[in-house]
Parts: sequence; C-alpha cells; structure tokens
Amino acid sequence: MAKSINYTPARALGEYRILPGHIGLTSVDDVSLSAPITRYEKGEKPRITLHYSVVSSPMQAVYSPELNAELAKLGMFSISNWSQPVAEQAQKRSAVKSMKGGFVVPDVVGPSTLISELKKLTEKTGYNTYPVTSDGTLDTPMIGIITSNDYRTDFHAYEPVSARMIPIEKVVLGHYDEIGYDLARANMALIESHHGHLPVVDKDGKIVYVVFKKDVDEHLQNPYAMVDASKRYMGGDAVNTVDYEERVPALVEAGTDFLYVTTSQGDSDYVKRTLEWVACKFPSVPVGAGNVVTGEGFRFLADSGATCVGVGMGPGSICITQQQIGVGRAQGTAIEEVARARDEYFMKKGIYVPIIADGGISTPMHAIVAYALGADAIMGGRIFAGTDESPSDWNSDRSAKRYWGEGSKRAKEWGAVRYGHRISTFEEGVEGWVPRQGPVREHMRNFVYTVKDGMRKGGHMDIPNAHEHAVLEIISEAARAEGRPHDITL
Ligand code: IMP
Repeated sequence: MAKSINYTPARALGEYRILPGHIGLTSVDDVSLSAPITRYEKGEKPRITLHYSVVSSPMQAVYSPELNAELAKLGMFSISNWSQPVAEQAQKRSAVKSMKGGFVVPDVVGPSTLISELKKLTEKTGYNTYPVTSDGTLDTPMIGIITSNDYRTDFHAYEPVSARMIPIEKVVLGHYDEIGYDLARANMALIESHHGHLPVVDKDGKIVYVVFKKDVDEHLQNPYAMVDASKRYMGGDAVNTVDYEERVPALVEAGTDFLYVTTSQGDSDYVKRTLEWVACKFPSVPVGAGNVVTGEGFRFLADSGATCVGVGMGPGSICITQQQIGVGRAQGTAIEEVARARDEYFMKKGIYVPIIADGGISTPMHAIVAYALGADAIMGGRIFAGTDESPSDWNSDRSAKRYWGEGSKRAKEWGAVRYGHRISTFEEGVEGWVPRQGPVREHMRNFVYTVKDGMRKGGHMDIPNAHEHAVLEIISEAARAEGRPHDITL
C-alpha cells in the first residue's frame, strides 16, 4: 500500500481567514508590500527587492514588453514565457531594456537612408525621432537628427535623410559626462533645451541615449520603478530544461535581470541540471526555479542553487493538472509547508531563499492569505490576463480577453511547430475568457490598495511582520456562507 495517506484535507487559499490585529496610528499607505525575490545570506542585501511583491506569470496570454514596462514602473516584476522562439523572447527583453525609465537608447539611421525607408521604420516602431549617425549605427558619431516634422513623404520620399535632417551644429545636445543617468539633471537639461527631447552624447560625440520629456515626467511620477544600474526597466525570463543552452545566452545577451526555470514539477534532476549549467556559464545572473509544493521539493531546489522557489502545482485558474493526473496540492497547504521549509533552511544554513506563491491568486484576498501563510511574492496570470497590456485577443465588443494555460492545446501547438513535438491529447490547461480589467496601472493600483488594507486590518504593516505574527483560521462552509451577502435579494 501507499507509504502514507494524509487524512487531513489540504487547504485552498479561499479556506483561510486572518484574524484582525491591532492597528496603530497608521494609514493604508504606510503598509509596505516590499520583499526580495533573490536569495541572500544573513546580513547581506538581496540582489532584487520588489517594491510591491507581485510578479506576472511567464505565459503566452500574459507577458508582453508593455506589461513588463508598466509593472516595472510600478515597482513590480514580470517574467517572459519560454513558449516562443528564442529570438522572439530575446527581442522582447531587448525591447524592455531599450526603455530606460526616461533614458531611451534610440534606433538610429544613416545619412543615405531614404525618407521612404525612414517612414517604413517609423510605422514599424511607432517612434518619430531618429538620431542620424555616420554609418547608421550607434558605433559612430551623431551627425544630425530627423523627426517626422522634418519631412513629408509625398514630397521627400526619394530624398536621403541627410537632405532633411537637422545637422548636428543646430541640435541642442546633452553631455553624458555631466548628466549620466541622473533623472533630475536630465530633466533640467531638457527644460533648458526648450525641446521635447534631448539627445545625450559621450565625449566622442556618439549617442548614449535620448531623453524624452514625456518619459521623464512619467518616470518622476514612478519613484519606485524597478530599474537596473543603467536605469533600464528590469524584468525576468523563463527558460525550460530542454533548450536552455541556446535560450539562456540569448536572454543574457538581451540584458535579462533574472532567469526562471519553470516546469510543472520542479523537484526534478532536469531542473537541477539547468540551474547548475546557468550558474556555471553565467554566475552573475540570478536564476530561480519552480514549482514545488513540498518541503522536500523546496530543499532540493534551494540546494541546487535556485535564487528563489516557485510554489504551486494545480491551483492555477486555467489548470487541469490535478484533474488529469491526480498529482498536485491545494495552494494554501503548499505555501504553508514550503514557507516552513524556507524558514528552517534559513535557521540552519543562514541562507534566505524567497518563495513565490504561483497560481490561484485571483483576488486581493488570495494574495493577503498567501503573504500571511509565508509567501514572499505572489505570481499571477489571471490577475493580468484581462489588462489592456496583455498580448491576447479581445472578444468582439472588447469586454473580455482570451486566457489560456501554457499546458493547453493552444499553447502546446507552439511546441509542435517549434520542436516537432507530437500534440498529445493530454492537456494540463484550458482556454477561456476573462473580463476586461483596463490599463494594468489602474487595475494594480486598486489591487494593491485592497491588499494593503487587508494587511493593515490583520495588524501587519509589512510582509515580514505577517510571516511572523499572522494568525489564520480555517473556515467552515457555514462560515463561508455567513461571510458572504446573505438573506438579502441583491
Ligand atoms: P492563475 O493566476 O491562477 O491563472 O495561475 C497562473 C499559473 O498557473 C502560472 O503562473 C503557472 O504556474 C500555472 N499554469 C500556467 N499554465 C498552466 C497550465 O496550462 N496548466 C497548469 N498550470 C498552468
């Protein structure tokens, strides 16, 4: 017979309630949702600490560079999906990395580029302003600038850029030596230039970046933005255990800040092998892994070098894994057990390996319970799938967007095209619709406010306090009915 059978039912996130705690003379705005997502030793500073510890899932229906940039501006994090060609995934990382939180590394053109070609580029990229360099690359000095105000395609289509550009002598330039990546200085230089943009060059006259007024204004409004040392927006990229030797170098080259080995069952030697390969080839890039749902799984990944560990097998809103194969665990119990293992690991080894609760977090209530149970961060697909920035398609009246699992037929078809995988009838995910949530910024502002409100009413002004002091109870079905509107016609 089986080695062990546990007759205490595992608990879903919705089955817990947090007892209220004392509220001091504080407001909701005083609550911090900051937490690390990279491992650190006692006394050390973690490499990556999120301002709001919320991460978007690496899924086809969720990740887009636009979502990544918006979440980074808010102080959150986004991880791209590996279920796409390597070049496409790397290109998306490069796209985010070219948005430098106010400092944009621009596309440039050469003097002999025709205006008709420039127009095509403008239509493709959506950008109207192009520095002109001697050879059309960033490696040679800037010799002018051209914007869509400088030409009319009907008159100038066959003229070269050099005939219509503003020559360098007439361009107001900023100097990298004086401005660096200091946003306040860039802002002052921009104001003094009387222009909406300012090209900034190094001592050899080569372009370093362009500052656009709208970006600077926006950046000044986003003081918690997740940016790297060069002020570029941060983000992570998922990799698999099959083509990592090809995928990882391309993502590192594109500027990834964080790699994440994702599989539906992370307690695996394939994940260990991938983690070890990345650590050996690219020791400076943090690499997390998931998912597990047991203390044993956590210890395995922590010992294999994972910088953080994803928790969840089966709770995703699009997931049918448990139904299909009977393997998995309810998310509340999974977080509880893995968080305990993380704390014991820290006590024993002095290394803190953050855990990310992944799946089943559709409402702020689920997030608050996940933090209280011990999650350092929450990961969600459902909470982002209906936002304007997700890449999926709308329904006809734009009131809903499609959302599908990475293990669904739709996502797997990609694998068939890429690897010639046989499309089996075995699916682990479904495809459906989620209601429109509007711009992610607004949606997350409301989400985060509600989470903070709940944390405060539980008596917790930050995540570590919730980890240490939260008191939770399991509710009965009767209690659940009582906690909803009842005895009233709505
Ligand atoms: P949600 O936020 O509840 O929709 O859960 C999203 C999470 O479900 C992802 O981050 C993955 O961990 C997981 N997931 C994504 N696609 C699938 C699938 O097809 N089957 C099972 N789990 C999935």
